[in-house]
Amino acid sequence: MPNGHVIRGSRVGSVPERLAERYEPAPCRPVTYWCRNGHHTQIRIAAEAEAPPVWDCPRCGYPAGQDAQNPPGRVRSEPYKSHLAYVKERRTDAEGEAILAEALAELRRRRGTG
Ligand SMILES: [Zn+2]
Repeated sequence: MPNGHVIRGSRVGSVPERLAERYEPAPCRPVTYWCRNGHHTQIRIAAEAEAPPVWDCPRCGYPAGQDAQNPPGRVRSEPYKSHLAYVKERRTDAEGEAILAEALAELRRRRGTG
């Protein structure tokens, strides 16, 4: 730092301004994350750095992702999907209820309570 002596010798009040003029921040780019609660937060990361796929929402703490239409929290809110749930997705509600009734009947039969 060739300017070190100059700064040290100058008046204190003039230093911050000169430093601010000379200071060049590293290039950054904004990255926006959405959580499942509809919050979005924008962070700035170094331009050459890879953005983390998930960022904790600062407002609710849920994981937030870069895809506004598909925040990661939504997936985690359905941690378990039974076979029946998948079946019901492919069928109408009425069919699903019939299958559910069948399944319950089968369950009761196995337990000996039917
Ligand atoms: Zn949130």
